[in-house]
Amino acid sequence: AAKNGGRNRFSYFTPAMQAQAQTRLRLIADLRGALAGEELQVWYQPVVDLRSGRIAKAEALLRWFHPQMGLVEPQRFIPCAEESGLINDIGEWVFRQAAQHSRRWGERLGQPFQISVNKSPVQFLGRGRDSDWGGHLKDLGLAGSSISVEITEGLLLDASPIIIDRLMQLRGAGIEVAIDDFGTGYSSMAYLRKFQIDYLKIDRSFVQQVATDSGDRAIVRSIIAMAHELGLRVVAEGVENDEQRHALVEAGCDYGQGYLISGALPPEAFEQMLLAR
Ligand code: C2E
Ligand code: MG
Ligand code: MG
Ligand code: MG
Repeated sequence: AAKNGGRNRFSYFTPAMQAQAQTRLRLIADLRGALAGEELQVWYQPVVDLRSGRIAKAEALLRWFHPQMGLVEPQRFIPCAEESGLINDIGEWVFRQAAQHSRRWGERLGQPFQISVNKSPVQFLGRGRDSDWGGHLKDLGLAGSSISVEITEGLLLDASPIIIDRLMQLRGAGIEVAIDDFGTGYSSMAYLRKFQIDYLKIDRSFVQQVATDSGDRAIVRSIIAMAHELGLRVVAEGVENDEQRHALVEAGCDYGQGYLISGALPPEAFEQMLLAR
């Protein structure tokens, strides 16, 4: 039953809010079965060398095909997964899928193929499920650098000893680290050195106008220059047209991903694209 502050909170609920809360609860309930019921899939988006167009690596992106609701976007269900703690099991599963695919595609290509996996702050704090990613990769006969992990700036800013410890454990196993959505948070330069970050991923919001807005172009150019000075490689997110790609190449950007090249693909389709090149 609602107590004290709880009562006020619920009295402000409009019917629309109530419906939204109900959908949320339903998503959380359904998510529990989704992993077991094979409704979740890991799709892969190519990350290309912007100059040559060669596929350099891939990002693993979750897809949920709900039996009644159809495709549910990650933005809708990841928060539910975090709230309920299910993200820990789901995240481990995504990692294992990515590791298997890295091995398969590395074998097909005759050289290691890196896949990056998103890891939210909740997953770094998850208790009792501190699984050994480095050990798992070793068991598969893979180098640590077969996987990179994408984290957000916020994780490093209020990094607790547990988070730092777990991040350093990944680094120690050779797993690379990327800062996702760079530029949207506090963007402190000091932590890039402190935590030995490997990649910066420039947020889509700066890439969108990189060819048309001189202010955004200046921001993108300085992020790239700074990253390179520090020895980091740069990935542009959300590259949708050739003007953007051109401006990014001019600015010295290393890699790009976006609808210009391809959205996320099911593993079979991604493999076809990878091997066709
Ligand atoms: P993100 O890691 O920043 O991933 C990039 C998002 O941009 C993806 O959305 C991708 O499909 C989308 N995207 C790629 N190219 C373009 C483009 O050219 N234009 C536009 N407009 N969008 C593009 P998606 O797949 O819906 O994922 C959204 C977010 O959900 C991800 O953002 C990530 O934060 C989270 N997410 C996805 N999979 C996982 C996962 O396995 N674990 C965790 N913890 N989070 C995940
Ligand atoms: Mg990402
Ligand atoms: Mg991103
Ligand atoms: Mg994003």
